[in-house]
Amino acid sequence: MEKINYVCENCGNDELEVLKKKVHDKSFYYLVRCPKCGNVFEISDKLKLSQTKLIISRYDISESKVITIPKDVEYKVGDTLNIDGEELEITKIETDKTVKGAEGKDIKVIWTKSLSIPKKIGISINDKNRTYSVYLLVPNDYIFETERTYKINEGFFKIKKIKLENGKFANKAEAKDIKRIYGEVSRPYRNAKDLTEYLKED
Ligand SMILES: [Zn+2]
Repeated sequence: MEKINYVCENCGNDELEVLKKKVHDKSFYYLVRCPKCGNVFEISDKLKLSQTKLIISRYDISESKVITIPKDVEYKVGDTLNIDGEELEITKIETDKTVKGAEGKDIKVIWTKSLSIPKKIGISINDKNRTYSVYLLVPNDYIFETERTYKINEGFFKIKKIKLENGKFANKAEAKDIKRIYGEVSRPYRNAKDLTEYLKED
């Protein structure tokens, strides 16, 4: 049986058996079977597809898989992809080097973070004597602002600094872009935004 070197999307095995083959003009069609997991699928270059490695980060855990993407479509850092129903934001693209954007055919690895899970954010709250750290799991589009008062359980604090994932600081940002928040204990304030429901118990 004829074999080709192509990565099985299901198990990652890279030698597949060719069940059926059609070649005409400049396009081809293969029906292949993975001898390792039994997955049967089609490969066709009509859509000019290319395979790339996809890394998905969910908090501190990463998953790696192989996906098929169009060769002539450009991908950029910050774009979102929907893979198996999960929304992913591209955080890094590797060709032969790390780039901000590239066409599918040149991409070796796409690094992403999942937007389908709540964002984990660390908050350091200073009360002049010591600093407390808490972790929240908040919706990705939740907006935090400096100089606003927030509440966790019975404690109140005002945000002083918001550090972003890219290392910069902002006065206002969505949870998905935030790395860490720095605050100071403040007096109780009736219109404080209550974060208690997002508190992550360790
Ligand atoms: Zn397989």
